[in-house]
Amino acid sequence: MPISYIDVPIPDAGNVQEVAPGILWLRMPLPFDLDHINLYLIKDGENGYALIDTGIGTSKVEALWETILNKLNKPITKVIVTHMHPDHIGMAGFLVDRFRAPFFMSHSEYFVCRALSAGSQGASDWQDDEYLVRCGMSAEYVAKAKQARKEGKGMGQFIRPIPLKYERLEAGNSISIGHEKWQVIIGRGHSPEHVCLFNKQTEILISGDHVLPIISPNIGVYSTEPNANSLAQYLSTLPQFLDLPANTLVLPSHKQPFIGLHTRVDELIKHHHAHLDNLREYCREGKTIKDCLPILFRRKLNPHNMFFAIAEAFSHLNYLYYSGEFSRHVNADGQFIFQRI
Ligand SMILES: [Zn+2]
Repeated sequence: MPISYIDVPIPDAGNVQEVAPGILWLRMPLPFDLDHINLYLIKDGENGYALIDTGIGTSKVEALWETILNKLNKPITKVIVTHMHPDHIGMAGFLVDRFRAPFFMSHSEYFVCRALSAGSQGASDWQDDEYLVRCGMSAEYVAKAKQARKEGKGMGQFIRPIPLKYERLEAGNSISIGHEKWQVIIGRGHSPEHVCLFNKQTEILISGDHVLPIISPNIGVYSTEPNANSLAQYLSTLPQFLDLPANTLVLPSHKQPFIGLHTRVDELIKHHHAHLDNLREYCREGKTIKDCLPILFRRKLNPHNMFFAIAEAFSHLNYLYYSGEFSRHVNADGQFIFQRI
């Protein structure tokens, strides 16, 4: 089944749009190249709405929430967050406090987010420097990144204080919203324990960032776990979506709701394998992670994109290292050199 987008207008900032009976779609702005996130409100009986994801924690988004809450004129009954990234969890604390609503996340996403948003608590940061050196970044880039960390420009700046209590969502669980049950499906690789929700009766999937149309979710290896094999985790948690009905309506966190889940899952798998093939060809001679960026990304990278681009290149190279196809060693400059065996 080819990918098709459902015929409903994209909601303007501060407005909601029904995408299925009892499900409202809204958008919140993001201060990045990817300039929006989709959020969904699901009618929770007559009482109010369960909310999926919350928007990044900025004053602009807070003002838009005030507009939307005024229009809804009903409370938020549950705040459900698919994963820990600031565009998803950013305003959770604000909304949970406002309505004293229960807050749902997976275990890993909740605690990783609390840990990362709290900053380093004075721990030394040579590991963060070392990560960038291993990636092949210049001394100037490493110094700038260090300065930015010092100034506290980490992910915590975009996250309102995280609620101190949560309800755990895990694989095989389901959560009741109104009269319906949404089954929890866990994806890994984009984030540690990403929650997707599937409604069997209506054949609707809330896919978060795990399955996106048009763009490929970022699959990265970061400084907290430089030996991670995120791409293997991602590729191993995609095929389970092929077991859902082919005509499932997918409600993603970016771009537009679509039908064609199986086609999109196949495309995403192929996309990463194409990247891996290109790296197999390119790394006949030893290369640093940074050397590989033009092989994976054609566009020019700004500093924000660069951070994610090196993480993405790292995940592909680690995948080839763990599969036994590439060697990996540290050269005299402290950089990882990956080479096809
Ligand atoms: Zn994300």
